Amino acid sequence: MVPNPVAPLRADVVYMFDKFGRNIDYLRISVTDRCNLRCEYCMPETGVEDIGHENILGFEDIERVVRAAVSLGFRKFRLTGGEPLVRRGIVSLVERIAAVRGADAPVMTSNGLLLSRMAADLKAAGLRRVNISLDSLRAERYRRITRGGVLADALAGIRAAEAAGLFPIRLNVVTLRGFNDDEISDFARLTLEHPWDVRFIELMPVGEGSAGFGLAYVSGREIETVLDGFVPVPAKAGVTEVAKYRKYPGAPGRVGFISPLSGHFCGDCNKLRLTADGRLKTCLHSNREVDLRPALRAKDETPLVALLRAAVLSKEERHRINEGEAPVRRGMSRIGG
Ligand code: SAM
Ligand code: SF4
Repeated sequence: MVPNPVAPLRADVVYMFDKFGRNIDYLRISVTDRCNLRCEYCMPETGVEDIGHENILGFEDIERVVRAAVSLGFRKFRLTGGEPLVRRGIVSLVERIAAVRGADAPVMTSNGLLLSRMAADLKAAGLRRVNISLDSLRAERYRRITRGGVLADALAGIRAAEAAGLFPIRLNVVTLRGFNDDEISDFARLTLEHPWDVRFIELMPVGEGSAGFGLAYVSGREIETVLDGFVPVPAKAGVTEVAKYRKYPGAPGRVGFISPLSGHFCGDCNKLRLTADGRLKTCLHSNREVDLRPALRAKDETPLVALLRAAVLSKEERHRINEGEAPVRRGMSRIGG
């Protein structure tokens, strides 16, 4: 495995490397498992038991985890869920993380439905940018895949994010065979008109929801054959990106491919995940979890820092989903995709 590229090391910066030479500096934080949508591939329609208010990490605990992670060299923090914007007080959490010395301004992944009323406050609180999930540009299809979502609300959210200066706008499109694969060109054409990154994601066998779609994911390479006339966009030196980007010549935006199944980007993986109930996951596709809650009950940060360090050092070399490894028990909405 080739370790992820790191910009020249600086003497005044702390770095945390795992056993495989990867610089782990990114924590995705799921702030809630609740969601205002029920995307078919992500959550079952009914019968989803939520984690329960009493088991969800409070903002103070999340901030403690962020501070402990920063002391080990983490810099990037992404708020996700479930839908992060349904967590009460989310703007104040953004503010708390943005104020942590040594942390980059936080970013977020959202379905965008609540952004039209929250984007300006999130920006003012210190959010840097937002990735918005959008699987169809057709209202009826969008309603179907999200089980009730209103496309116009998501589009209004994108406009509000742009107006608030949450740049660059990134749209995440999970490509579903026989459902939205005929919209690939429509999505890619958005990059001719807008300075957006439109990213096609391979459907992963995570959670119960994805099972109905089978494993016939649409690969990044397959999508590239639908779209011609692209030029590759070289990765920036020292920047770890799971997406590989292409561009139409002269277009303001880029088209990206996130290919966890066909692309094997584990060598570039720089992240851990924190679930809303305080478990660390070292790989999205593994059932192993490290419970941080006992360490969060301690008065000082020593046990928390020790658990985070141990988690980094035990990070799996790669996932084995292509080899039929048992699917992950938690659904995506409960891990924080
Ligand atoms: N609710 C927010 C949203 O939809 O952006 C954040 C959480 S959601 C779990 C994060 C991302 O995971 C979304 O872009 C969603 O499309 C993606 N996702 C969910 N289940 C997936 C799966 N089985 N394979 C690939 N991506 C998935
Ligand atoms: Fe909710 Fe996001 Fe999952 Fe859709 S993908 S159900 S918006 S958590």
